[in-house]
Amino acid sequence: MANLNIDAKAQNTYDAIVIGSGISGGWAAKELTGKGLRTLVLERGRDVRHVTDYPTTMMQPWEFDHRGQLTKEVKDANPIISKCYAFYEGTQQFFVKDAEHPYIQEKPFDWIRGYQVGGKSLMWARQTQRWSDFDFEGPARDGFAVDWPIRYADLAPWYSYVERFAGITGNKDGLDTLPDGEFLPPHEWNCVEKHFQQKVASRYKDRHVIMGRAAHITKPQPVHLQQGRAQCQHRTICERGCPFGGYFSSNSSTIPWAAKTGKMTLRPDSVVHSIIYDEQKVRATGVRIVDANTKQMQEYYARIIFLNAAALNSNLVLLNSTSHRFPNGLGNDSGVLGKYIAFHNYRAGISAQYDGNLDSTTDGRRPNSPYIPRFRNVYKQETDFLRGYAAGFSAGRSSRANQNGIGADLKQNLLNPELGGWYVGSHMMGETIPKETNFVALDSAQKDPFGIPQLKISIAYDDNDDKMVKDYQEQMTEMFTAAGFTNIRVRDDHRNPGLDIHEMGGARMGKDPKTSVLNKWNQLHAVKNVFVTDGSCMTSTSTQNPSLTYMAMTARSADYAVKAMKKGLV
Ligand SMILES: Cc1cc2nc3c(=O)[nH]c(=O)nc-3n(C[C@H](O)[C@H](O)[C@H](O)COP(=O)(O)OP(=O)(O)OC[C@H]3O[C@@H](n4cnc5c(N)ncnc54)[C@H](O)[C@@H]3O)c2cc1C
Ligand code: SF4
Repeated sequence: MANLNIDAKAQNTYDAIVIGSGISGGWAAKELTGKGLRTLVLERGRDVRHVTDYPTTMMQPWEFDHRGQLTKEVKDANPIISKCYAFYEGTQQFFVKDAEHPYIQEKPFDWIRGYQVGGKSLMWARQTQRWSDFDFEGPARDGFAVDWPIRYADLAPWYSYVERFAGITGNKDGLDTLPDGEFLPPHEWNCVEKHFQQKVASRYKDRHVIMGRAAHITKPQPVHLQQGRAQCQHRTICERGCPFGGYFSSNSSTIPWAAKTGKMTLRPDSVVHSIIYDEQKVRATGVRIVDANTKQMQEYYARIIFLNAAALNSNLVLLNSTSHRFPNGLGNDSGVLGKYIAFHNYRAGISAQYDGNLDSTTDGRRPNSPYIPRFRNVYKQETDFLRGYAAGFSAGRSSRANQNGIGADLKQNLLNPELGGWYVGSHMMGETIPKETNFVALDSAQKDPFGIPQLKISIAYDDNDDKMVKDYQEQMTEMFTAAGFTNIRVRDDHRNPGLDIHEMGGARMGKDPKTSVLNKWNQLHAVKNVFVTDGSCMTSTSTQNPSLTYMAMTARSADYAVKAMKKGLV
């Protein structure tokens, strides 16, 4: 007679477990299955299938009950996520509602999350710039946090690898602050953006306005067609899910690719509680989950585990994975787990008018915009704050519906709106300095609906961030003035940390196990068969949007993990 316990354990045993199916987890799933590993992907949210589960993607504005707007009821129930620009009637289904997964704000923190297959890859803004050595060498050069255990050269081939598969549009700009990648044709400029670019180039040697690099397929390559993805149609309603697969998401790209190998088991509605550590075997042996529907606890086992629950949730899982050997969280010999969290400072913006080019207008839509790479404190320390900021920039022409007339006249007038003047705008994306005092921890008393301790978040701006906001406003005002823009208005919206949606750190990489949690391969220093490749691994934040770096880091780490497995090292 079969031994049911042994059978059940065998049934629940895989070569690899991936926790989370968002941007980084999708890549882990693709790489591990592609290298032949039977891989279980555990995802706390519901399944969202490419195309069929994008209910609003083809809806016209008039088909929405509230013309795309959020109702007062929704806003009142969700004061946190209602602050996110991408949360509206057409995208509501992808955002975690405020009450769904409670957390404790020791200091104000707007935690924006997407719990479903695909995670936040469905809602992201797709900006994808590489980091450079000015970023990886920042902590060592400027004396903060700890030195990164890797440099740009370690990641460069992996950036190329993920860019080719994901499909990144961009221009080869030849800047040492922002290395070029494997680009599909760039998006187009409008005349006022071009005007600004030329004015900045003529006045400053070290400042550049370039077209943003974004995960959109502007010219499909065979590898994109094999994924079933097509050319981006420039609809700019991406965060509703794109049936063309015009932008990169786990749902359109990595997860179906992993499924095609026949090696992936995807288990949605599986809230990972903790990672199981076996004191005798001196390794992690599996994962405990709470089934979101039945609330039953279940265990799954594997030789290697990739933790990709997104930065703060990966901290939560590690902190909640306690044992005799690791009473303060898995791999937390250093005591730094949960600390040195950093994010991006998006507080400041600037807007203005431009009175020229009234004979020109914009044509069509573009799901991307120009970008100003960091130019402060790059080659030398030139300000009273550390590090710097990048900036988004765009120009457009307003139009006003002419509602005069009746019948055919009214129709004609509405079809030919009156054009207003040009407006221009920019927002900052500043690097923040990881500090021990910016941390997350588990609350000892309050639990979430699955009986898992709630995360206590204590993260704030500091004086460095305030000085950076002021400098951004001054420098951009100078650049806008030089370009002949008028009616210049700067703002500091004092938004809470979190709303940037680029939280990073807590399980930082480093050379020294005494001061860091992960080594140069994203392995826990103390538990070599656990790999963490989402934002929690980041030692510092740079100014660039981080997700492309998570993708490259994940592919690199998966490659190492499989080789190490074959050599019996993990
Ligand atoms: C509106 C918006 C705009 C953005 N714009 C950009 C941009 O332009 N460029 C950029 O680089 N980044 C951008 N981001 C951020 C980007 O989405 C994230 O950096 C990226 O998704 C992180 O990838 P991840 O795999 O770490 O996490 P996610 O994509 O969030 O995936 C994590 C997954 O883990 C699951 N999970 C969490 N906890 C558990 C658990 N306990 N058990 C099981 N599963 C769990 C979640 O449900 C989720 O599916 C944006 C985000 C938003 C929302
Ligand atoms: S702009 Fe491109 S990626 Fe976005 S929804 Fe349209 S076709 Fe899809």
